[in-house]
Amino acid sequence: MVLVALVAEGETLPRPGREALSLARTLVDGGAPGPVVAAVTGPGAVQAGGEAFALGADRVLAVPGREATADRKLLVDDLLAAWEQAGGQEGLILCPGDEAGRELAPRLAFRLGAGVASEVVRVRWEGGRVLAERPAYGGKAVATVALPGPVGVVQVKDRAFEAASPEPGRTGQVEELPAAAGPERLRVVEEVREEAGGVPLEEAPVVVAGGRGLGGPEPFQEELAELARLLGGAVGASLAAVDAGWVPPALQVGQTGKSVAPELYLAVGISGASQHLAGITGAKHVVAINKDREAPIFRRAELGVVGDWREIVPALIDAVRALRS
Ligand SMILES: Cc1cc2nc3c(=O)[nH]c(=O)nc-3n(C[C@H](O)[C@H](O)[C@H](O)COP(=O)(O)OP(=O)(O)OC[C@H]3O[C@@H](n4cnc5c(N)ncnc54)[C@H](O)[C@@H]3O)c2cc1C
Repeated sequence: MVLVALVAEGETLPRPGREALSLARTLVDGGAPGPVVAAVTGPGAVQAGGEAFALGADRVLAVPGREATADRKLLVDDLLAAWEQAGGQEGLILCPGDEAGRELAPRLAFRLGAGVASEVVRVRWEGGRVLAERPAYGGKAVATVALPGPVGVVQVKDRAFEAASPEPGRTGQVEELPAAAGPERLRVVEEVREEAGGVPLEEAPVVVAGGRGLGGPEPFQEELAELARLLGGAVGASLAAVDAGWVPPALQVGQTGKSVAPELYLAVGISGASQHLAGITGAKHVVAINKDREAPIFRRAELGVVGDWREIVPALIDAVRALRS
């Protein structure tokens, strides 16, 4: 069995969850023992679970009796109840690359006495066992991890796998389970959602990202924001720009920031440290503007412009405006 541990977002499945489901389907279709079971928690679990069939689940177990922000321990109890209901003696549990998945994976593994591999970018079923590949040394190497034992837990990296398009005819009956009983040790008393204008960074088809080379917060709000607006994209940043207080942490791209997979990633005044590049492995095309021709970003970029961004970016904005008029 491959069980995908999911927390519903309202009445839908979050994108990282859909990516994990698609991976589960691919693994089982490629020879790993099935079925694909989706275990969904959160108040909208039954409705969201309905979607899981079209995305590749053979069986869907929903535990709707709990807030998605609930004590993670209780969510783990709910998911383990689903695992047992599905006959869980052996198999693989996949957790998505969102916040819930990152938190639930090690907890599930601990409770099952299973091995866990996190931020996985590739999974293979070979010789009767799961082999998971994950970046090591800040993305400079790839480690292949074998998960021995009857159960393994894999948390997939956000954006490392593409979510398949739903198959409209594929439907089924969602099985509803009661929430597991247990003492609540933590309660979320308030959730503050950040106001995000424009295209969300993780979904943007174009990301215009800036680094320390921009020299201050203004170019992010002016030149980069304008270029992103013209290209229908979003502004991103390196950790150095975040640490300098020029942009909020929500804009950080990289190993400890967001993973993005746009059609075009434009890196302006970013050196291209491995920790930054770890966040753009899924970018289709990378273009870099940097005044240092030796900057490592040029090894990742398809097109590089050596020069001062202060000359190049305004000229680029004019050129895009001219193309659009
Ligand atoms: C555990 C760990 C996790 C990390 N996670 C992340 C992460 O998630 N994301 C991340 O980004 N970093 C991360 N880092 C930090 C990373 O190692 C780098 O320090 C950081 O990415 C550097 O940011 P930068 O490229 O903006 O700055 P710098 O490395 O200082 O590069 C600035 C670049 O701007 C160029 N430049 C300067 N002036 C101009 C100009 N006028 N015109 C054009 N180019 C110019 C310079 O030539 C230089 O290449 C992490 C580090 C560690 C140790």
